[in-house]
Amino acid sequence: MDPIHMVDLIGQHAAIENELNAAMQRVMRNGAFVKGPEVQAFSEELQAYTGSRFVIPCGNGTDALQIALMALGIGPGDEVITTGFTFISTIEVVALLGATPVLVDVHADTFNIQAEQVAAAITPRTKAIVPVHLFGQMADMDALLALSNKSGIPVIEDNAQAISARWYGAEGKRKDAPQSGTLGLMGTTSFFPSKNLGCMGDGGAIMTNDETIARKLQQIANHGMSKRYHHDVVGLNSRLDGLQAAILRVKLQHLDAYCAARQQAAARYDALLQDIPGIQIPLRDVRSSHVFHQYTLQVDPTRRDALVEHMKAHGIPTGVYYPVPGHRQAAFASYSFNLDAHPISDALAARVISLPMHTELTESQQSNICAALIKFVLQ
Ligand SMILES: *Cc1c(COP(=O)(O)O)cnc(C)c1O
Repeated sequence: MDPIHMVDLIGQHAAIENELNAAMQRVMRNGAFVKGPEVQAFSEELQAYTGSRFVIPCGNGTDALQIALMALGIGPGDEVITTGFTFISTIEVVALLGATPVLVDVHADTFNIQAEQVAAAITPRTKAIVPVHLFGQMADMDALLALSNKSGIPVIEDNAQAISARWYGAEGKRKDAPQSGTLGLMGTTSFFPSKNLGCMGDGGAIMTNDETIARKLQQIANHGMSKRYHHDVVGLNSRLDGLQAAILRVKLQHLDAYCAARQQAAARYDALLQDIPGIQIPLRDVRSSHVFHQYTLQVDPTRRDALVEHMKAHGIPTGVYYPVPGHRQAAFASYSFNLDAHPISDALAARVISLPMHTELTESQQSNICAALIKFVLQ
């Protein structure tokens, strides 16, 4: 049996090696290594793909979040509401800017932020709401946008894990439903290699339909500069390389096929695991499509870590995203988060296990993965 990987980028790239080689050669020959025509073309192609009016490329998904918050002028004394059941970046950038992260709990079925809890956490100091579309499925954008319209507090979607997902809402499934990252005032994403649209290094982008915000984002990402060597605001150096943009232009053309491959793999896992007692397969919110950045199960918390070891002993990698929710991270101890206020995030941290999920997963690999899993769970 071929070795099973959590993510198989070598296999994914081998299938399009000629296209990638040609793209990389273009950059070597045109010499635009930072910014330049490939970055410009990629921005335009991602605008067309997502339907976002503006796409501002930047250095990575963490910078994208930070730049988005900076465009709103967020700093000391301000509060940003988000979830603790996320990758650290979402919370970290709020702390880095000297603002206060306000964490609320998530839904047990979708892993995504609870809009009612967001509503309850709003204060006169709240400057942004940052839902994370975790594992490839969108947070409740109907409720969050209604809240945003009512309160005037902007929504920034952390879309690092769900690029190309669509929000169907009450209208139901349809091809032209808006894409993740384009519903809030801003949406941020990451092109880290293992993300659904990944490059071969670091990369990120911010999307918006608002021209004034777009200009601010552009300026902040480029040293606060609008005219060469005239710096109007304090910014940062956060940019996408030509090489990464050229690679992303190739891979963007395959993104729909990549999503379909992930969805097909998820459906196969579902079929193999849905009737097994002791395993909760990922639940779907019918108002969102699911692009399966991760395929995440919930299992008995007293046996989860032993299951990870059992799978490893069978040569099968798994992931625990995330073992420590934000309110329990040592880095944030100074915020004195209420440790009793996140019972679902705490429970999930002990119950989740993510299976290998990527575009190259075969039916026989999935059968082997599920056989090892079922053997442990039923014994
Ligand atoms: C990956 C990720 C980020 C950060 O992206 P980087 O490109 O690694 O900086 C932010 N938020 C979420 C939810 C992520 O999964």
